[in-house]
Amino acid sequence: MSIKDVIAPFAVWKRVFEKPWTVKKPIDDRPGADRYRGFHKNDSEACIGCGTCESICQNAAIDMVSVDGVQGDGGDSGLRPRIDYGRCCWCALCVDICTTGSLTMSNQYVWTDTDPEVYRFVPGHDGKSWDDSQTGYSRPEGYSLLKDERVNMPALDVDEGLKSFVEMIKGYSAE
Ligand code: SF4
Ligand code: SF4
Repeated sequence: MSIKDVIAPFAVWKRVFEKPWTVKKPIDDRPGADRYRGFHKNDSEACIGCGTCESICQNAAIDMVSVDGVQGDGGDSGLRPRIDYGRCCWCALCVDICTTGSLTMSNQYVWTDTDPEVYRFVPGHDGKSWDDSQTGYSRPEGYSLLKDERVNMPALDVDEGLKSFVEMIKGYSAE
């Protein structure tokens, strides 16, 4: 054993007073990026319960449910999206398609609980700590998956239709 091997352990003590490189509480100190896709938020006043978010979700992670205090009327079904985070893959298709832009995502992604049931909730109704978060993902300005131009439905010419019982409207399959 060399003299250097004997002294080396004592030499590292000088590092005791240096600023550590490690993070003391890594689980508490890992903020998502500003446009990170974390837990959802929903502006319940703006949401009209149309269910378009439910329809586009490829993981069946959204169910439209009734919630206390929201009454349906002609322009609002009275339902609100409930998200199941056991199914959600955070793809944000629901945010990109949302007809009113009410559905957004916070950048909060750290949350642990021993009760699996709490990971299924109605954003904007079941209050969460990230509800007022200003960071996270929202549909970019001017971008929408929805096409707002009506697609014309092909139909049989009236004169042709008069000659038989064939279906006049051609835009549907037999099913
Ligand atoms: S983020 Fe994607 S997977 Fe999650 S609820 Fe929305 S559409 Fe479904
Ligand atoms: S698409 Fe938007 S407006 Fe329609 S139910 Fe979902 S969150 Fe509400």
